[in-house]
Amino acid sequence: MVTFKDVHKSFGDVDVLKGIDLEIKPAEKVAVIGPSGSGKTTIIRMLMTLEQPTSGDIFVGDQNLWKMEKNGEFVAANEKHLREVRGDIGMVFQHFNLFPHMTILENCMTAPIHVKKEAKKVARQRSIEMLEKVGLGDKLDNYPSQLSGGQKQRVAMARALVMRPKVMLFDEVTSALDPELVGEVLEVIRDIAKEGEMAMILVTHEMDFALDVADKVLFLDEGVIAEQGSASEVIEHSKNDRLQSFLHRFR
Ligand code: ATP
Repeated sequence: MVTFKDVHKSFGDVDVLKGIDLEIKPAEKVAVIGPSGSGKTTIIRMLMTLEQPTSGDIFVGDQNLWKMEKNGEFVAANEKHLREVRGDIGMVFQHFNLFPHMTILENCMTAPIHVKKEAKKVARQRSIEMLEKVGLGDKLDNYPSQLSGGQKQRVAMARALVMRPKVMLFDEVTSALDPELVGEVLEVIRDIAKEGEMAMILVTHEMDFALDVADKVLFLDEGVIAEQGSASEVIEHSKNDRLQSFLHRFR
């Protein structure tokens, strides 16, 4: 579904990704772990199509997303394909990025109406369903400022789900939450994962959660995938010293 082939990314003279080979299959759940600065968010931003590679290929389906111009800059290989890919991606970030002046129902309805051109009635109905699914059916008319961090994060998930993405990206979605609110957010992600159809890529420091949910875990270290395998292989049985010392901090 998504394939990275020898993807490099530099910012100025800082080499952040140094040859990433990666395949994400439809419906696969992939956890990305690794120390601060190892390049996890950069991979997510590339999956979001917000960053172009410095070299290498990113295929979605069998089409390359980017092509290199004569001046060495990457541009969309096919604008229509890029737009379609963007429409298939849902994202949830560490900071919820909700619209503060809209109710949570309006937060969910706005993209289906304005991006997908869905009828207001349909968008409203589906948004209510998604907010019920994340346990916020009784808060439809509340504003984000009236919610806890965990509730805001659940709204962010409902808002992404309402667009029916094929891939959902979660970038450290529990990192900004008070510890007692982390569980409710992970629980919702677990439920979404169990439903099965979407691919999910999760940058997370929650190792028990990764063990529970992920089909595959990638350990990113200094811009390379230093270890990958099943969650149990990587988190419980790896002999990689740097991975061991990284994991030690979370156990
Ligand atoms: P963290 O766990 O702290 O969020 P990370 O593994 O997600 O870290 P990235 O955010 O991908 O790491 O950053 C990797 C490196 O790339 C860092 O050294 C960062 O400073 C650098 N970097 C990322 N984006 C940019 C940018 N737009 N311009 C310059 N440097 C950048």
